[in-house]
Amino acid sequence: MADIKQIAVIGAGQMGNGIAEVSLSAGYSVYLMDQSKDMLDRGVAKIEHNWNKLISKGRITEQEKSTKLANLITTTTLEAVCDVDLVIEAVVESKQIKEELFARLDALAPSATILASNTSSLPITALAAVTNRADRVIGMHFMNPVPVMKLVEVIRGLGTSDETYQTVLEVSKKLGKKSVEVNDFPGFISNRILMPMINEAIYAVYEGVANAEAIDDVMKLGMNHPMGPLELADFIGLDTCLSIMETLYEGFADSKYRPCPLLKKYVSAGWLGRKSNRGFYDYR
Ligand code: NAD
Repeated sequence: MADIKQIAVIGAGQMGNGIAEVSLSAGYSVYLMDQSKDMLDRGVAKIEHNWNKLISKGRITEQEKSTKLANLITTTTLEAVCDVDLVIEAVVESKQIKEELFARLDALAPSATILASNTSSLPITALAAVTNRADRVIGMHFMNPVPVMKLVEVIRGLGTSDETYQTVLEVSKKLGKKSVEVNDFPGFISNRILMPMINEAIYAVYEGVANAEAIDDVMKLGMNHPMGPLELADFIGLDTCLSIMETLYEGFADSKYRPCPLLKKYVSAGWLGRKSNRGFYDYR
């Protein structure tokens, strides 16, 4: 099993900054890279905000916060981050962008480096195929918000080695997460089950069965879900939800996964949920 000391997180959006936060808290040295300086600044501000809340509750000290922050390096340059033991990619849910990134990572990182993806649905085997290290490519699907949610789906591509799998299990454990082993099929387990439910809730709005609040109330008060499906869709990001539905639809060629036209309309309008202040709810 490889000894992981340094982790690079690529993408500082809602998932990337959460992965960086839990990695720092577990004692790893972390490089956080994003193509956008603004997203990097926002990502670090979010991490500090979460730690300040823990300080105010007496759960960590100022000194502990400073020690963790001293282990964080941020950059907009991919070349600066590749000399690490483990890369966790968390950029937008686009097959093309992730494949281009994995090809670059493969060229830049030492041959022993494990390349993991936090993709919600895209095939790990296809990401591995653009590299020359299919045995060291794996899925590490964290849940949102990362510091709070306990699960990591660990997805084995067709060529992922047992050693890579065991190493990633160990890292997940050190991050305080429970991992489940999943084979590489579209949407894995979590989004194969969750996303069709969200899509069906969107169809219910589209067909005028009920409004968003009513649908969310049914699922919260009637089924004991902590969040309604439309609230959750806004939280995940409607662009991410659409990408996942498209992956399921394409991957299984089954009409039951057809993305709702209303979801497509919202995304094309730039209504992406919380991150754009507008989705099924208005956050302005
Ligand atoms: P986000 O939109 O909040 O952040 C994406 C970040 O990637 C942005 O900061 C963007 O600047 C950056 N980026 C885009 N292309 C890049 C590139 N080529 N190089 C460097 N940075 C780049 O998205 P998110 O919600 O954090 O999702 C990230 C990944 O995590 C996606 O694959 C998504 O499917 C997955 N995921 C999301 C959730 C969720 O609930 N949102 C849950 C689990 C997994």
